Amino acid sequence: MTQLPPGSVLGIVGGGQLGRMSAIAAARLGYHAHILTTENDGPAAQVADAITLGRYDDHDALRRFADAVDVITFEFENISADGLDLLSSIRPVHPAGHILRISQDRIAEKTFMAENDIPVAPWRGVHDRADLDRAAQALGYPFILKTTRLGYDGKGQARIHDADGLDAAFDSLRPHPLVAEGMVRFACEVSVMVARNAHGDIVTFDVTENRHRDGILDISLAPARIAPDLAAQARDLARRIATALDLVGLLGVEMFVDRDGSLRVNEIAPRPHNSGHWTMDACPVDQFEMHVRAVTGLPLPPASRHSDAVMKNLIGPDDMALWPEIMATSGLLAHHYGKAEARPGRKMGHVNVLFPKGALPGEFGVEAALGPLARPVNAA
Ligand code: AMP
Repeated sequence: MTQLPPGSVLGIVGGGQLGRMSAIAAARLGYHAHILTTENDGPAAQVADAITLGRYDDHDALRRFADAVDVITFEFENISADGLDLLSSIRPVHPAGHILRISQDRIAEKTFMAENDIPVAPWRGVHDRADLDRAAQALGYPFILKTTRLGYDGKGQARIHDADGLDAAFDSLRPHPLVAEGMVRFACEVSVMVARNAHGDIVTFDVTENRHRDGILDISLAPARIAPDLAAQARDLARRIATALDLVGLLGVEMFVDRDGSLRVNEIAPRPHNSGHWTMDACPVDQFEMHVRAVTGLPLPPASRHSDAVMKNLIGPDDMALWPEIMATSGLLAHHYGKAEARPGRKMGHVNVLFPKGALPGEFGVEAALGPLARPVNAA
C-alpha cells in the first residue's frame, strides 16, 4: 500500500468522540476527514471537513460516503456484514471486514482466540436454555452471561449467583445466542493499544491499568502498575492478536490480570479506545495519529511515552457541572467532546494529568492530582 498523500480524504464510519479525535489527528497530517454519521452536529461532524448523513444500514448513504473518500476506517464497529461488503467493494477498508466480524460477535471473538492460543476466561456458547444448564455446571457459580453482540460499558450482561438466577438472566438478555463466562478473579484490568500497517510494522503503547465505575471506564493509569515481565507479555499478546488478524489499523485489547499472575484477554476493539486517551498528552504520537497513520499507509513511529499519566473520564451531568473548575485548575488537560446534552452515564470528555516518567503516584497522589474531580479513595 502506498502512502496516501496529504489532501486525501479519510472516511470515518461513526460520528462520536473517537471519530472527532481521529478527525483532528487526520487534519494535523493534512488529510480531510469525511464522517458517516447519523447526527449532523455530533462530536465528529463538528470538526470534520464533510459529512454524509445517514444510517449505517442505509446502502445509498454508504455508497455516497464511499464514493466521496479515499480510504475508510471506523470509530463505530457495529455496521452490518452487507454494509461492510458494500463499502469494501468501493474503497479500501481498514481494519478489514473480517476483523470487525470477529470483534462484533463474542463467540467469533473467543473462537478466534482459542484458534490462536490466546488465553481467555473459560466460556461456553449458550444457544438454548439447556446449554445454559450445561454452562452453569461446567463453569460453576458465580458466572457471567453476556449477549454476543452490541454489548458495551457493562450493558448486555448479567451475573448469575445460583440456579435460581438462570431463567431470569436467560430471558432478559437478547438476542440469543449468548456467551457464558467463568468469573475471573482479577487483580486488575489492563489494556494494550496496538497499531499495525499494511507493511506489517507493529507498535504497542505501554500497558494501561483501567478502573471501572458503574460498568463504565472511570480512570486509566499509564503505565499499569504490574511487573515488567507481565507488561511485556501483555504487549506480546496484543502483537500476536494484531498479526493473526492481519490488522491494518489500531486495535485495543482488554485483558484481566488474574490473581494467579496470568493474563486473560476479555475483548478486542478494532479502533481507538477510551483506555488509550492518555496517549493524547503523554506520547509524542498518540493513538489517534497512530490510527490515521496505520490506515493511510504512513510509517509508524515508536509508540513511546514521555510522561506517566492518569486519565479520568468526564461522565454525565455531575462531572460536567465541574467544567468551570476543571478549566480553572492547572495540570488538568481537558478534552471536551462537544456533546450538547450531558445525560447520566454519557461520556462527555476526559482529562489527562501528567507526571514525570516513573513518578506515577499512589492512590492519594492520584486523587490529589485530579483536583475538583477527586473522590474519596474508597468511594464506590
Ligand atoms: P465487558 O463488557 O466484557 O467488557 O465487561 C465489562 C466489565 O465486566 C469488565 O470490564 C469487567 O470488569 C467485568 N467482567 C466481564 N467479564 C468478566 C469475567 N469473565 N470475570 C470477571 N469480570 C468480568
